[in-house]
Amino acid sequence: MRRALIIGNWKMHKVVAQAVGFAREIAGGFSAMADRDVAIAPPFTALHALSAVLKDTAIALCAQDVHWEQEGAFTGEVSAPMLLDAGCRYVLIGHSERRRWSGESNEDVNRKARAALRGGLAPVVCVGETLDEREADQTFSVIRRQLKEGLNNILADDIRRAIVAYEPVWAIGTGKTATPEQAEEIHDFIRQFIERIHGTEIAAGICILYGGSVNPDNAGSLMAQKDIDGLLVGGASLDAGSFRKIIHF
Ligand code: PEP
Repeated sequence: MRRALIIGNWKMHKVVAQAVGFAREIAGGFSAMADRDVAIAPPFTALHALSAVLKDTAIALCAQDVHWEQEGAFTGEVSAPMLLDAGCRYVLIGHSERRRWSGESNEDVNRKARAALRGGLAPVVCVGETLDEREADQTFSVIRRQLKEGLNNILADDIRRAIVAYEPVWAIGTGKTATPEQAEEIHDFIRQFIERIHGTEIAAGICILYGGSVNPDNAGSLMAQKDIDGLLVGGASLDAGSFRKIIHF
């Protein structure tokens, strides 16, 4: 039985004092539950402070990006060992905003995912089609390619620790959510892709999140789908009341 995972992606929001106050509020209203994990992904600047705040709570820390090298002359970058040291358990990789604004390719995603796994972090590899691609009937080919190239050369033992997030680009921050059926169709496709490469047991265990305008009203129906194991929540995770409702879906 797969555990659910809900991650709040704060993107480029909250200075340290705001992040600390907000994390205290969320952690105070959430006790460990046997069937789910919860994490928040603040900006890098708040990771260290939040690791202290969340230390003895049921909320884990997730970073929003990672570099593929462990250390070196890479100004502005942060490595997996640094994130682990700062208290992270997860890291988002290949979020559509990074693909769009920082030109991240599937090859970059792959290098980052492998670095995260090497460094002891669980990579949350984001895939998803744009509206143009969906309208041109390219959804499956786009996702297949993102998975094939993004998860290339990852051994079966490692893939068990990886997480895939399906985030249709047209649903991110737009208020348009994929219907539970639309999302389930792609989640099922992703699980079948993993099954073809790594076999039934690994495919049955891998955690696949949905992201794209998740809110307290649609979280339950999305989570009721067979292959939707969790949620990657952007905008609604910035509001304590909404995020609390979502994590208690
Ligand atoms: C996201 O940032 O990953 C996301 C899904 O954002 P939103 O929930 O705001 O659409």
